[in-house]
Amino acid sequence: MGLEAQEAIDRLCVVVPDVPSAGILFRDLTPVFSDAAAFRTIIDALSEPFAGEFDAVAGVEARGFLLAGAVAYATGTGVVAIRKAGKLPRSVYREAYDLEYGQAELEIHQSDLPAGARVLVLDDVLATGGTLAAACALLERAGAVVAACAVVLEIDGLGGRDALAERTLHTLHSV
Ligand code: AMP
Repeated sequence: MGLEAQEAIDRLCVVVPDVPSAGILFRDLTPVFSDAAAFRTIIDALSEPFAGEFDAVAGVEARGFLLAGAVAYATGTGVVAIRKAGKLPRSVYREAYDLEYGQAELEIHQSDLPAGARVLVLDDVLATGGTLAAACALLERAGAVVAACAVVLEIDGLGGRDALAERTLHTLHSV
């Protein structure tokens, strides 16, 4: 499974230079998602180490949503949206954080999860770790327990692993 996922990512991920700003190598995983076999492989691989250890899957807007919905369906769990600021209609918690290429804010509904729900948190790429750290903080403010974080691709050398040092982190591939 691990090698199969890595092979699919190597074959299908497209590296786009200078997007969204000069000097950034954008790792576009959408061709991995749009390939039926590759998508099934990564969806299964993201959750496999945590079977039975989570009650819900949280996805970070926007590509994390594609992963979280599929993993939740495949594992018979619920799905939770962690959204960019200003999109959710009810009372939210908000966290500001730094990105590899700027700053952002994420929000979660205050009451989407029962207290103590164990959550697997998903995103496509781990860079500095700010996004996933903020997502975990939001889930904990909402009363949930972070079971683990999982990403398709980890970019080495940007500190993401250190930023999530106190979390269980699963990455399918790294560059
Ligand atoms: P970070 O918070 O720095 O770990 O950044 C991770 C978030 O930003 C994820 O939601 C990614 O989709 C996106 N991201 C950051 N850097 C890149 C990159 N080089 N290529 C693709 N997505 C990225």
